[in-house]
Amino acid sequence: MQESSLIVVQKYGGSSVADTGKLKQVAALIKQRRDEGFRLCVVVSAMGQTTNELLAKANDVSTTLPRRELDMLLSCGERASMALLAMALDDLGVPSISFTGSQSGIITNDQHSNARILEVRPYRVQDELEKDKVVIIAGYQGVSYKKEITTLGRGGSDTTAVAMAAALDAHACEIYSDVSGVFSADPRVVDNTIQLAALSHEEMLALSRGGARVLNAQAVAYAKEKKIALYAKKTGSPETGTLISGLEKTESNKRQWAFGHRETVVGYLAPAEFSFSRAFESIESLELNPLYWVKSGGKWQFLFAPEDAHGHAQLGSEGWASVNDKGTLTAVAHGLGQDLQAVRQTIAFVEEKTQPDQVHVTENSVTFVLQSTQILPILKILHHELTNG
Ligand code: ASP
Ligand code: MG
Repeated sequence: MQESSLIVVQKYGGSSVADTGKLKQVAALIKQRRDEGFRLCVVVSAMGQTTNELLAKANDVSTTLPRRELDMLLSCGERASMALLAMALDDLGVPSISFTGSQSGIITNDQHSNARILEVRPYRVQDELEKDKVVIIAGYQGVSYKKEITTLGRGGSDTTAVAMAAALDAHACEIYSDVSGVFSADPRVVDNTIQLAALSHEEMLALSRGGARVLNAQAVAYAKEKKIALYAKKTGSPETGTLISGLEKTESNKRQWAFGHRETVVGYLAPAEFSFSRAFESIESLELNPLYWVKSGGKWQFLFAPEDAHGHAQLGSEGWASVNDKGTLTAVAHGLGQDLQAVRQTIAFVEEKTQPDQVHVTENSVTFVLQSTQILPILKILHHELTNG
């Protein structure tokens, strides 16, 4: 292989490496891509449900979930995948080496369990790529300036891939999972969804924040900042997929709609006497990242994504009231927030069925906070009405 050959970063999600058989298939796909003449840096997630299983064990032994220890635990899942994949490649005669996030030079802040990447020093990765090895990297983790192991929030292996693609100036960043790209809504719960050929970083960001699990929101934000194009594809079927890039508008005049949803969110209402800074003190000390926050009826309310709201119950013991049985539904379209007619229409379709608790309008999205039980029925109606699907 020539030294000048292009670098491709690939990421394989948990379902693509769920068992050793699947890991061997991924090894074969990597070999194939390498035989095409690319240098490969491959990021892996934990096998199948490993992260959830580890988290369940943590919840069994702890009510407080100390974040540092949680990161020590959860980072193990990806380490198992990386080592096994490197072994499987060795069996195919493909020279490879596995690295943890720390060994790959992924430096983060010290916000355990939801760390942000500050910089990437990929020297060891570059050295090994130059030696013609496939470099396998454990996703979802890094190391803080204090030399502590950190994790990047649930779904964070996507962020690892984007960060490596930026640091290595890669030719392509391919995110492989068990779905063939980004759809107009989650195809597992909505009929007649369509696969989107392309969307902008901004649209994808709104969709990921709205609960679409195909790509991690932090990863998309990072890709937007570093101007990295992402390809979301199905493992083993690289022919089709969705391109997420800096493109400003889709070619056709027809509005392209997409919907994200969360059937449940974690919600809390601050005590009435709490100022915003007092309320935020609690949120910060528990290292929680709110999705939405509003002041209404004189009280601050915060909504969190359940997968990242570790230890939220502590708010209850500080006098916060929990807000139960709520979910969110997000409609995304390019420039939606500027198109009052379209916003009005979207809200009207929802209000025909129910009065939303909250409506948040942003540049490219409208988000409704609704009763959990209403999320799926109204998602189906909105998708049908707005996409004619
Ligand atoms: N294994 C981690 C999770 O399940 C990270 C990832 O899959 O990207 O959230
Ligand atoms: Mg996972």
